[in-house]
Amino acid sequence: MNLSIVIPLLNEAESLEELFSRIDLVCKSHQLSYEIWFVDDGSTDLSWSIIENLSVQNANVHGIKFSRNYGKSQALHAAFEKVQGEIIITMDADLQDFPEEIPSLYDKIISEDFDIVSGWKKKRFDNVMTKNLPSKLFNAAARKLSGVELHDFNCGLKAYKKQVVKSIDVYGDMHRYIPVLAANAGFRKITEKEVQHQARPYGSSKFGSERFVRGFLDLVTLWFVSRFGGRPMHFFGAAGTLMFLFGFLSAFWLGLSKLIDVSRGIYGHLLANNPWFFIALTMMILGTLLFIAGFLGEMIIRNNRDHKNYYIDEKI
Ligand code: UDP
Ligand code: MG
Repeated sequence: MNLSIVIPLLNEAESLEELFSRIDLVCKSHQLSYEIWFVDDGSTDLSWSIIENLSVQNANVHGIKFSRNYGKSQALHAAFEKVQGEIIITMDADLQDFPEEIPSLYDKIISEDFDIVSGWKKKRFDNVMTKNLPSKLFNAAARKLSGVELHDFNCGLKAYKKQVVKSIDVYGDMHRYIPVLAANAGFRKITEKEVQHQARPYGSSKFGSERFVRGFLDLVTLWFVSRFGGRPMHFFGAAGTLMFLFGFLSAFWLGLSKLIDVSRGIYGHLLANNPWFFIALTMMILGTLLFIAGFLGEMIIRNNRDHKNYYIDEKI
């Protein structure tokens, strides 16, 4: 099978039939064999019964129904476990992405042997203040922190090689950063292709303004995990040791100066009157805590040996 098309959806009943018939038409006219995985992420409208109808009429249509709304990342994850096509296409269900782009994404990823071809909504039909501007900022931050050069990380329309989706774990809200997850897993042949975009014909966006807070925190997590996730001691241990040493030397110096005072016959200076006393104390305690955090991190990793964080490209 050439293609697996993965479509996460939450209350998108109005667009599903049109979406399916356009995908079917474009794949047939390009002689691409395909399966579609609709993932109903807890819809409360008629979405699921429409998917059931489509799957009765067409054997290429499959569906997964969640018992409640778990989020787009989980929806993608569930479908990624099932897909069998050589190339996986993800797209949104709201018709903002054009199914007619599928063949060109497919051709690009096959002919140039990319791991990921990510859509780029260069001309975007969303609200400028609430979406387009913040998203520009986000993409710039994501480029800087991840080193993956994409203009539009969160575009719903993307094409992946099968190995990529089978070896990444899209958890939390990480659907925004799948190319970064892939790059961290060693899939670095990532490119982008301009795609068309249109305003939402039905319904409204399923993400509110909290997307920016979550998106930012996820980005920081990704950056941190990719740098230190495999070796926490290198961060916590180093910071802890430095702090402890700083505190210890300060305390040592305090004690020494006290001794010198005493040897000169000066009494009555309480160590605790000196602000350095508290700084030294805090530094030693914090340093020890950081060190312990790093050590515990290492122990956890040691116990999770099965969790491989490498991907073997070739074996001979
Ligand atoms: N979606 C989902 N679960 C959610 C939120 C959204 O499956 O919790 C789906 C939604 O139905 C759509 C896609 O994810 O197919 C993109 O969502 P939306 O169009 O609301 O995002 P936007 O275009 O505003 O970024
Ligand atoms: Mg949308």
